[in-house]
Parts: sequence; C-alpha cells; structure tokens
Amino acid sequence: MSAVDAGATVRVGSLRLEAPAGRLFIGGSWVRSASGHEQAVEDPSDESTLRHVGWGDGEDVDRAVTHALDAAEGWGQTDWTHRARVLRQLADRLRADGERLAAVDTAESGNPIAGSRQDVGTAATALEFFAGLAGQTKGETFLSGPSTHAFTERSPYGVVGRLLAYNHPLLFAVQAAAAPLAAGNAVILKPADPTPLSALEVARLAEDLLPAGALSVVPGSGAAAGHALAAHPDVPRIAFTGSVATGRRVMATAAEHVKHVTLELGGKNPLVVFPDVDPADAARAAVDGMNFTKTNGQSCQATSRVLVHEDVHDELVRELADRMRALRVGPPADPRSDVGPLTFRSHYERVLAHIDGANRAGARLVTGGARPAGLTRGYYVRPTLFTDVPAGSAILQEEVFGPVLVVSRWRDEEEMVAAANGTPYGLTANVLTHDLGRALRTARRLRAGLVWVNGPSPRPLGVPFGGHKLSGRGKEHGLEELLSYTQDKSVVVRYG
Ligand code: NAD
Repeated sequence: MSAVDAGATVRVGSLRLEAPAGRLFIGGSWVRSASGHEQAVEDPSDESTLRHVGWGDGEDVDRAVTHALDAAEGWGQTDWTHRARVLRQLADRLRADGERLAAVDTAESGNPIAGSRQDVGTAATALEFFAGLAGQTKGETFLSGPSTHAFTERSPYGVVGRLLAYNHPLLFAVQAAAAPLAAGNAVILKPADPTPLSALEVARLAEDLLPAGALSVVPGSGAAAGHALAAHPDVPRIAFTGSVATGRRVMATAAEHVKHVTLELGGKNPLVVFPDVDPADAARAAVDGMNFTKTNGQSCQATSRVLVHEDVHDELVRELADRMRALRVGPPADPRSDVGPLTFRSHYERVLAHIDGANRAGARLVTGGARPAGLTRGYYVRPTLFTDVPAGSAILQEEVFGPVLVVSRWRDEEEMVAAANGTPYGLTANVLTHDLGRALRTARRLRAGLVWVNGPSPRPLGVPFGGHKLSGRGKEHGLEELLSYTQDKSVVVRYG
C-alpha cells in the first residue's frame, strides 16, 4: 500500500477514508495544523503508510478550545431530547457505515477485523445508552424548614478534553464523545499518536449533526497537543485513558487549574483458578480474557496473570499451550487471522524486551516468545506463555500490554489472595470456581474495580468500569460517567 493524500474521499488499498487528508477537525471545519506539520499513519501489518494527517500542537488546541467554548454555550442549553436524538442519529450512521469503519480501525490498530466489527456495534450502543440517560443529569431536593426550599441542579462543565489510548481507536473515540456530549458539553478528542484515523472518520460522520465546535479532533503528539489540552485553563474537565506514567503527568498538569480529572489506566489482572474447575474451561476463560483475538492482547483488562491451584496447574498449562498455539497470527484484515500485529514499532520492541527479560529471569517459555515464521514485515508477536516464573520477576508485576500470559501456581488460599493483590494495579480480576461462597468471598477480597466470576464476559450495559489503586480513578460506561461531566450546585431558597 502507499499513501494517497488528495481529495476528501480516498481509497487506500481497500480502505475508504472520508475525512480529508492532512487536516484536523476544529470548529466544524477541516483545517491544516497551525504549524503546517503532518504525520504519517502507519499500517502495523506491513509498515506501509496509510495516510498523512494534520499534526496539531498547542496553537491548534487553543483554536479548538475557543470554538468549543462558543459551541458549549448553545449545545449545553439545548433540550436533552435534542442531544439524545443527535447521538442516536450518529449511532445509526456508525452502523450503516460499519464495514468501512471497521476496516479503518483494523488498518491503523492491527486489531483483527472481527474485533473491529464488534467495536463498531459497541460504539453505536454506547451512543444510544447515553442518549437514553441524557435526561438524568438532574438534581435532588432536600427536606427543609417551612420557609426554605433547598435543591441541587447539574450543569455541564463546558469544554471536556479527552486523551485516548490506541487499542480501540474507533470505540474509544465514540465512547469518549458520548457521555460528555449527552451531558451538554463540547468535546475535544486527542486520539492516541499512532491511531488518529478512526476519530477523524467519526468527526466526518458527525459534522453535520453537531453544532460547529461541539466536537473537535486534534491529532498530535502527547507531549504537545495532549499536554496543551491537559494544561488549558478553559478545559475544566479532563478524562484520560492510557498508561500510569502518563496519567500521573496529566494529573500533575491539570492540578495547576484544579481540574476534575478521571483516569482509566493499566492493569496486570489476575485470573484465579480453584481446583474444582475443569482445566479446559479455565484455559478457555484465560484465552478469552487475554483478548488475543480482539486487540492482540493489547488490552487493559487482559487476564495476563493466571494463578492456578497446584492440583490443576500442569493440565491447565497443557490446555493453554494447545489453545494458544492454535491461534493463527496473520494480517488483521484477513478474517482467517485470529491475532494481528501490535500497533507500533516501539511498542513491539517493548513487548519483545519484556519477553527477553522473563527468559533471562529464568521463567519457562512454554510457547510463543518471538515473531511468527513467515511474516517478515509488521509488528507480529506469537501468543506467549510463561510458567515457573521466579518470584519477584518483572513479568509478574509489570503490564506488558501484549500477547503475553504468565501462569503461577498456588497451594494456600491466603497466599493466593496476597499474590493476586500483590501488584500496584487494580483494574480487573477473575475468579473461577463452582463454589459460590468461595467465589463471593474471593471476589470481595480482590482489590480491583471489576471482578468477573466464572469467566470474563461482555460487560452488561451500564456496569461501571474503572480501576482501583494505580489503575485509575473514576468510573466510566454507567450513569456515574454521565454525571461526572456535570457539576452540581446547591441552591437554598428562603421565602415567606
Ligand atoms: P499513553 O499513556 O502512552 O498515551 C495515552 C494518551 O495520552 C495518548 O493520547 C498520548 O498522546 C497522550 N499523552 C502522552 N503524553 C502526554 C502528556 N504529557 N500530556 C497529555 N497527554 C499525553 O498510553 P497508550 O500507550 O496510548 O495506551 C496504553 C495504556 O493504556 C496501557 O497502560 C493500557 O492498560 C491503558 N488503557 C487503559 C484502559 C482503561 O480503560 N483502563 C483502556 C485502554 C488502555
């Protein structure tokens, strides 16, 4: 493939891009970046250039904020039923254009096409969900004296800045816009550096539905565009999805203006297997939970640490290895591929460095550990399984964010709980057992924002998601997220 950069609608291979090349979407217009800078977006499956996009910095963020302030005034005062209607219309457009959007998502992220198709549906549903909730940004009344009336009311913040991670480019762009728009805010999206195309395509779909400036998309580096958004005095609400290290930086930057910050950060999520579970079932749950076939293991909620009772350890490792070897690694647009490439070169190199570190620490490599034979270009890594990892090894503690799974054995329940809780992360956890009492007892003790019992499954709509400990603060995907894009005010009225 080669870059084709002219015109508004462009075909790159079988990819159709509607958003104009070399542009940012600011204030309802497709504009060049103030610096004139452009950036190549790479296809991780073959390292070719998909397209050049406009590459924004602080000046572009300033422009987007000025337009967002104007738009927020009117959008925030529209009837919520109008905002709900607009979100539903956008959902319909996403579904109608689903195949094309899934192809864009797959091309820039390397996610297998089936996973990208699923993400289009999930994104549309998120819009409909928040459209349905939009009327819930209401307040409370309080018992007061005979001549006092006290109540709270909620109003949107005005401008919301959202900094996105790269592992679900389309889904995150849509989810990031849904709740703040429903609550009456204008939104500025800063897509992840390697994956700006899907967010630009979403803006293209939404441009005649929303008032100019209500949604802007400013691709650019984290250090320039991302920092400028986190620092901007007129963006009082920042929501960040990404790594712990950057999340800390964003929080520190936002502290200058005492912003409301929520953080969706990384995980090193335990999957605990009790001895009453069939090892084949546990292996299936662990492989599903790794999201190999959705995001190539680049998943914050990946079940990347399996803690298995010693009685079923060996059989589980055999089952896991069989299942992981059976996954076909290949071009993500090919529906026969189960696992695609990692999203960009430096991340691919980081994942290989984690694997190298585990090998050097003396862990036993059961399967994977390298590029698949025969794929000479692209950032492919075979699904990788380690066991017998020496205590204290980095691979037991650090998030790899790739197709790397570590199994450890346990005998004593207390030690297992301590090990499961023994990382700085607390995003998700899993418990596999047929004993309901044991499942609930363990779920209560695991320090994580979401615990699955008997296998990770799609989260029912509205179930809050968000981490404990270093995995973040704040909850998304439920009513709490919607309300977090509003501020409440108490009003106390004396009369008579
Ligand atoms: P990252 O921290 O490198 O980047 C995230 C975003 O922050 C990007 O848009 C980036 O450009 C921006 N950024 C970078 N430096 C910045 C700065 N100084 N100021 C402001 N913004 C800045 O994360 P990533 O590598 O894109 O994503 C992977 C991480 O995201 C993993 O740790 C993963 O677990 C996490 N993640 C968490 C969730 C969740 O819901 N909890 C979901 C997906 C990914």
